Amino acid sequence: MSDLDNRQIERMDNVFRAQKAAFEAERHRSYKDRLRDIDAIGALTKKHADAIKDAAAADFGVRSRCETQLTEVTYMTTAVKHTRRHLWSWMQNRKVSIPGNLAPGKAYIRREPRGVAGIISPWNYPFQLAFSPILAALAAGCRVMLKPSELTPNMSELMRNMLAEEFDESHVAVLLGGPAVGEAFTKIPFDHLLYTGSTHVGRLVAKAAAENLTPVTLELGGKSPVIIDQGFKAKDAAASLSFGKFMNAGQTCIAPDYVLAPADQARPIGEAIIAKAEKSYPDWATDEDYTAIVSDRHYDRLNAMIEEARSGGAEILQASGGDPGNARKIAPTVVLNPPEDSKLMQEEIFGPVLPILAHNGLNDAMKRVNAGDRPLALYVYSKDKKAARRVLEGTISGGAVVNNTMLHYSVEDLPFGGVGASGYGAYHGEAGFETFTHARSVLEVPVWHPSRLIAPPYGKLFDMIANK
Ligand code: NAD
Repeated sequence: MSDLDNRQIERMDNVFRAQKAAFEAERHRSYKDRLRDIDAIGALTKKHADAIKDAAAADFGVRSRCETQLTEVTYMTTAVKHTRRHLWSWMQNRKVSIPGNLAPGKAYIRREPRGVAGIISPWNYPFQLAFSPILAALAAGCRVMLKPSELTPNMSELMRNMLAEEFDESHVAVLLGGPAVGEAFTKIPFDHLLYTGSTHVGRLVAKAAAENLTPVTLELGGKSPVIIDQGFKAKDAAASLSFGKFMNAGQTCIAPDYVLAPADQARPIGEAIIAKAEKSYPDWATDEDYTAIVSDRHYDRLNAMIEEARSGGAEILQASGGDPGNARKIAPTVVLNPPEDSKLMQEEIFGPVLPILAHNGLNDAMKRVNAGDRPLALYVYSKDKKAARRVLEGTISGGAVVNNTMLHYSVEDLPFGGVGASGYGAYHGEAGFETFTHARSVLEVPVWHPSRLIAPPYGKLFDMIANK
């Protein structure tokens, strides 16, 4: 049954029209007002920190409260501080030089708010992946409409109520619903649309936005590889691989998706990762810091992936633990040498399952990475800086970390985004401000300007200027 009815479409249109009118009435929101907006986002995040943890726990069944604190609440309060600190300088016009034959005059770039921004967010970090683009759009002086995920209804409802405390709907509005609402949402002629989610839906979003020539930022997923160099100790790689893969039970867009390791290291690395997971979660089945899978569909999908690899001859290593009962939990899992044509190696895993395959040297590993779609992140572990640089130069990915996983996400000054099938455009920090502003090129010249001299009938003066 469709989750969309005429009333919802009418409401969307009305909200969009109200936001458009409000933007036209205040095209350049002042620095002071934008600071107020940013502070409101920070204050709401702090005030509702417990409710955010409760909502995430209710939506996932089990969602580590510490991880919700770290990845949703603390991430946002840090991003707010960063934006607050830099907004003034981001808003300043940037002077550029002009060619001598255009002097006198001055040329500069004005960063102007794009207008009404649409944001579509996913379920895996349901608060942060909605509030972080909202923060960027507000810093840019835009109005915002958010369509959060239907898979995390408690968080979506909470965000709607939170934002209504501080913002009129003509400034920030939340539209609830599933794919049908999302589809109608993408037909709105936004001034910018930022979509976070799967590559499949990203394609549909880009197509719909193209009808209105709406510029789009696509934050998509994919298979983020790990390449381990010869001589890198298993236990040194295991800590960050275990953290990156089992945080949020692997339901992270930049989680390591699979590992390519030297042949003699594949098993020791796999065993070290499981040993680390057993230390982190003494009983994953009952541990409140080991998150559950968000839905039955994803739970069944992941179990089917493991079983397919097992029946294809792969070896499965799993952390020990009791019975999770009805919680949709899957043990921290490493799969040694799954078949290349198995779903584990063909699709983004998005769960606590880590395949490890053997490579025959860095060139072989890079060749295998390059044979697939361009990933959102790439992780290389090497004691040799030159070897790590060689991997960076020989591959393409949205972002990369040397000797760790995922930490680049928290550096606000690094633009965050994909490339190829993992998306295009970026946000975080200044990149987010740039995404939601238009770089308007301005040239100012005096009333009498020598350019007047270049006009037909062309003669000697023209030759002097144009032919030099
Ligand atoms: P999804 O594409 O199923 O859903 C994301 C959002 O799109 C939801 O709000 C959904 O309602 C909406 N939607 C669904 N169909 C739509 C349509 N036809 N038109 C418009 N909107 C529609 O993705 P998901 O399952 O929620 O998220 C998981 C995916 O997101 C993974 O691939 C993951 O890698 C990716 N992801 C990427 C990032 C990033 O920053 N690059 C972050 C988190 C997740």
